Amino acid sequence: MKSMPLHVKIIIGLVLGVIYSFISSSLGWNEFTVNWIDPFGKIFIRILKFIAVPLVLFSIISGVASLKDVSTLGRMGAKTLGFYLATTVFAIGVGLFLVNVIKPGNFIEEEQRIKNRVKYELWVESATGGIPKDGRSFLTDPKYRAQLESALTVEEIEEYKKQVSKKPKSIEAKLNSANKTKNEGPLKFIVDMVPQNVILSVSNNKLMLQVIFFAIFFGLTIAICPKERVAPLVAIIDATNDVFLKMVDLVMKAAPFFVFCLLAGVIARMADTPAEVLEIFKSLSSYSITVVIGLGVMIFGIYPLIVKLFVKGVGYSKFFKNIAPAQFLAFSTSSSAATLPVTIECLEDNMGVSKKVASFVLPIGATVNMDGTSLYQAVAVVFLAQLHMVDLTMAQQMIIVMTATLSSIGAAAVPSAGLVMMIIVLQSVGLNPAWIAIVFPVDRILDMCRTVVNVTGDATVSTVIAQSEGELDLKN
Ligand code: ASP
Repeated sequence: MKSMPLHVKIIIGLVLGVIYSFISSSLGWNEFTVNWIDPFGKIFIRILKFIAVPLVLFSIISGVASLKDVSTLGRMGAKTLGFYLATTVFAIGVGLFLVNVIKPGNFIEEEQRIKNRVKYELWVESATGGIPKDGRSFLTDPKYRAQLESALTVEEIEEYKKQVSKKPKSIEAKLNSANKTKNEGPLKFIVDMVPQNVILSVSNNKLMLQVIFFAIFFGLTIAICPKERVAPLVAIIDATNDVFLKMVDLVMKAAPFFVFCLLAGVIARMADTPAEVLEIFKSLSSYSITVVIGLGVMIFGIYPLIVKLFVKGVGYSKFFKNIAPAQFLAFSTSSSAATLPVTIECLEDNMGVSKKVASFVLPIGATVNMDGTSLYQAVAVVFLAQLHMVDLTMAQQMIIVMTATLSSIGAAAVPSAGLVMMIIVLQSVGLNPAWIAIVFPVDRILDMCRTVVNVTGDATVSTVIAQSEGELDLKN
């Protein structure tokens, strides 16, 4: 047991967690699970989160302060952002390709889709006073009369009209927060990167980019100060950084147990019986399968291929062996931010990426590079359109590429952030943002999967950047 690699132990924890949750729901132990097992999962995430911010802060400062040539940073920064952007747009392309080929929305019965379409038209009418962007109107065009009548009665249409005017409270709150983001000016995101008060930024998990900004600036200033003046400060920062890394080490020793608790808790809270979990899945299976295929293509095809192309000596199995603990943790926590300390450790200790590159590229990636999230958003939006018989034109799909890229950059690295930001993508192509409620039931599980892609994307890019900067020291 002692010599077993960590990722194998984590897989055992994962599998036992799933098996346990099925036993727990069959025997009616879910309340016990939520009260007595789930809290340990929460404790684990809290520990990882409190390590993440100081670790990012100290590791960036220490990495940047050690730069001999300050211009390296600008070059590395441009490369990092360019690469991140390219992988995100590519991931969206994969998502759009799959959803247009598989057409998961068309798997749902035609009658149901016509009903959905009518509700959509009523929504467009109440929201804009016009007709849908695709120019079709089941409600007024005699061409669709027969189809309309076979699916709906006049009373049902009246009932729908009433429903459209009411919005569920929980959705309304999500809409408000996404709308706030949308209504802000184009440069707002740059303004938001600059802290007003560093202490506040450090104390708020959502302000990671401000912490990164401060850390780079602070590190750069150290780098240009006279060496002998700042040497004691650098020594303290380096030592503190080492202590936080050691903390990650210690926590990870117990990770298999914590992962077991996390999984048992998540499933226990999702449904009371195993049959219910399966039921949730069945109703949205064509959509979930499309997302999972896309995510699988990225994880098992694209990323290892990129690494193979750019980095000699990191084959398929080595790539996965090196980053597996971070991937499993991403799956269990659904949060790239919580996984960050372990991602940094995997890349530095296993892959051999230098501290300078890992501490710069990975924290930025955790916040801005979310390939899995953007792929999922593209699939979800087109699926929802298909489900409501809305044809999206090529131009609209291009808008999806743009907005999904931006909204994945803007999404916080925490569970379900991608779902909330999807509202912006839906609105950009004239669809009803309240539709996020339709994909909500399966969102947690897909969130677990897309977070693995988000973290794997960061790991891939940091390995390639390290190689191109001569900062990769391949271990074993
Ligand atoms: N949970 C994802 C992450 O932290 C974000 C999302 O897609 O919701 O990477």
